[in-house]
Amino acid sequence: MSYTPCLKDREYYENRYDRMVVTHCRMTERSLDNTIQKSLSEMKEGEDEKSIRAVDECIRTLMLYFEKWQLALDRDKTIKEWMESDKERDEFYENTQPKRHPYCIKCNTEMRIIEKIPYLSYDKKERHRILFMFKCGICDLKRAFYNDGEEFRHEKQKCEKCQSTDLKSEMIDQKKQTIYRDTCNSCGYVKEDIFEKTIEEEDLNYLSDREKYVLSEKETGDYREAQVSLNQLHHLVTSPGWSKDWKSDDSTEEAATPQIKKLDFPDLKELITKVLKKHKYKDITFSNPVVFRRWVNVELSIAGKGLEKKAFLEMIQESLENTNWKVDEKSILVNLGILQCKLEGS
Ligand SMILES: [Zn+2]
Ligand SMILES: [Zn+2]
Repeated sequence: MSYTPCLKDREYYENRYDRMVVTHCRMTERSLDNTIQKSLSEMKEGEDEKSIRAVDECIRTLMLYFEKWQLALDRDKTIKEWMESDKERDEFYENTQPKRHPYCIKCNTEMRIIEKIPYLSYDKKERHRILFMFKCGICDLKRAFYNDGEEFRHEKQKCEKCQSTDLKSEMIDQKKQTIYRDTCNSCGYVKEDIFEKTIEEEDLNYLSDREKYVLSEKETGDYREAQVSLNQLHHLVTSPGWSKDWKSDDSTEEAATPQIKKLDFPDLKELITKVLKKHKYKDITFSNPVVFRRWVNVELSIAGKGLEKKAFLEMIQESLENTNWKVDEKSILVNLGILQCKLEGS
């Protein structure tokens, strides 16, 4: 009954947070750059490129500063929450006992625990569970029960074509993918599940980007002091009327493309969550949206096993078709069971 504790030393969470900051800021920076490019490409005749660029660059710098500072301010709280959740998982594992010890259905002897298997949840909506394996000391019969008393029943897999249970299952481990193949011994039907492996490329810019995006304790302290006036400035640069007459711009576009379904952020959230759940994606989270001129950027992240970039892209593009939102294709990243991407609305 070996159990690897979830709780690790603080350094592990510090590094995890730094990685999250770097990924988040890289995405923010890239999406702000795209927005500036777009803003310049939509420039009207008579408008001065230099001044538009100057204003945009200024907003870009400020937006990035606010992101960095907010992430620095949230650091301790988030790390504490992560550590508490992991500690809680470990305690659940240690303290959970079976509801009762079952009796052997052959010889009526009380069975003893031979294994305790954790099914710990990383999603607030799902509960933790423990599966206890029991064995009869006399006739070796095994049974398994969850901590809530529900018996574990192993359902035999069936062939999709002929319903036979006589299947040969194999796992083929290749360099780029893992294939799970079931071959039916009755009708020869072959079913394959292919999981692409994520090949982690060496992140050559990580250290310099960490330096750039992760604030030191002193910088965070300085920010805390200046927070009130910076908050006012933040409010100012994100208010829509600050730089351009964006309202008239917006209404002409709407008139030209009436077939586009205009979704606001809550609509988008609802749509995406529905579609992702339908495709069995889990742990769906959205970051706080960032408003920049008439564009809104939001980060979406999903956790799970076997996440595949291509399949995700196709699905998300299809569901956002004919809406005012799109996915930034280049922003899709898959790493350590997390898929992240940027969505952009206008
Ligand atoms: Zn027995
Ligand atoms: Zn078959």
